[in-house]
Amino acid sequence: MNNEWVGVDLTDARAVLERALELYHPRIALASSFSLEDAVALDILMSIRKDARVFALDTGRLNPETYECAEALRRRYGVRIEWYFPRHDAVEQLEREKGLFSFRESVENRKECCGIRKVEPLERALSSLDAWITGLRREQSVTRTDLQPVETDAAHQNIAKINPLAGWTLHDVWTYAREKRIPYNRLYDIGYTSIGCAPCTRAIEPGEDQRAGRWWWENPEHKECGLHINMRSWSPTI
Ligand code: SF4
Repeated sequence: MNNEWVGVDLTDARAVLERALELYHPRIALASSFSLEDAVALDILMSIRKDARVFALDTGRLNPETYECAEALRRRYGVRIEWYFPRHDAVEQLEREKGLFSFRESVENRKECCGIRKVEPLERALSSLDAWITGLRREQSVTRTDLQPVETDAAHQNIAKINPLAGWTLHDVWTYAREKRIPYNRLYDIGYTSIGCAPCTRAIEPGEDQRAGRWWWENPEHKECGLHINMRSWSPTI
């Protein structure tokens, strides 16, 4: 598997995506939460193949601005977004038994909600893929400092996980997005730097970590929703 990446400049997001599509299309898709990083990855992806696949998770608790951004991106690129919803019976049971804000009561409850609304739908989305693409960057948080552009995802049947923006800075992302006039989530304009579900995301204060606004009531080491855990990384050029 490593040989497939020999000669590819892993610091070049476009080169990484080109090879990933050569290797895996149509069993590869971009997982988009409509973050700026995901929008940049989408722009590069669409410039390589107009029929590249994109999927998204509608947790039922997203901000209106996120839906507006998703629609703007859909129209801009003419892309068919493959939406996944949580199992309705699991959401109904959670809300009937624990109310609408159980995730604020404990880390365990928060992970339960993320499990129902994000992790299970993600597993369904990935079950028919050989690789997925993310907009993750190393700089985003203490949980992502080891991120590699190409990984195997031990949490999801060892499929490939492609992170073309792994080495990008926030400045790199904004510079690219502005040059290309990419539609973006308007919450960035009021201080948000990482955008997830509405009740679990806030704007950050000056000097705070880029993901400080996610589950801000929790310890930083806990700040993953279960979508990006237990990864076994490998570097194909070593
Ligand atoms: S981010 Fe919050 S609302 Fe969204 S799935 Fe996780 S706990 Fe639930």
